[in-house]
Amino acid sequence: MVNKMIETNINNILLELKNTNTKLIAVSKTQSIENIQKVYNAGIKDFGENKVQELLSKIDKLPKDIRWHMIGHLQTNKVKDIIDKVYLIHSVDSIKLANKINKEAKKKNIKVNVLLEINIANEPSKYGFKNNEIEDAIDYIKSLDNINIKGFMCIAPKNENNQTYFKQMNHLKKQYNYDILSMGMSNDYKIALKEKSTYIRIGTKIFGPR
Ligand SMILES: *Cc1c(COP(=O)(O)O)cnc(C)c1O
Repeated sequence: MVNKMIETNINNILLELKNTNTKLIAVSKTQSIENIQKVYNAGIKDFGENKVQELLSKIDKLPKDIRWHMIGHLQTNKVKDIIDKVYLIHSVDSIKLANKINKEAKKKNIKVNVLLEINIANEPSKYGFKNNEIEDAIDYIKSLDNINIKGFMCIAPKNENNQTYFKQMNHLKKQYNYDILSMGMSNDYKIALKEKSTYIRIGTKIFGPR
């Protein structure tokens, strides 16, 4: 039953992504290995987690070709545990975190691909660079050898029409000439698609309520 539901949900979303440049990340936080495996079996290879411990506990139990996306706030003391295990870190939200990623990546002799999280609505409760901090942050992080900025991510406000914010995000991507724009969740991904999101991050619409 659940099996069928998950498959139907995914197929419905994939249908909406046809003829777009948008890819689906299945947000698998709090979900069982069994349910994640069902999503994988439906053809999805990109999964998003927001907690380091949970991510680490899942990686070894699931297929090796999964691309794991770190989408939650990342504490500096956990950076070393995941930088060589994730495909993309969406949530670089401070210079301190960027420095730490760079330092640990240097030790492992790797380059880490990241997105800068943007607090696009300047919400006091949210992580991310504010609009007036973006330029300096990019200038500085670009100077770090072991970290690559690939684009931007945002978590738009709940209960608002986010089209304006998504437009601003798309403008930033063009302005700085990056490839990736990670925006749109279950409640607002349709609007994000209109504004050319390249990754939507969907949990509830795939797995049901958490
Ligand atoms: C949980 C989460 C999502 C998915 O949220 P849904 O509303 O369940 O689709 C997307 N992005 C981030 C950063 C999240 O923490």
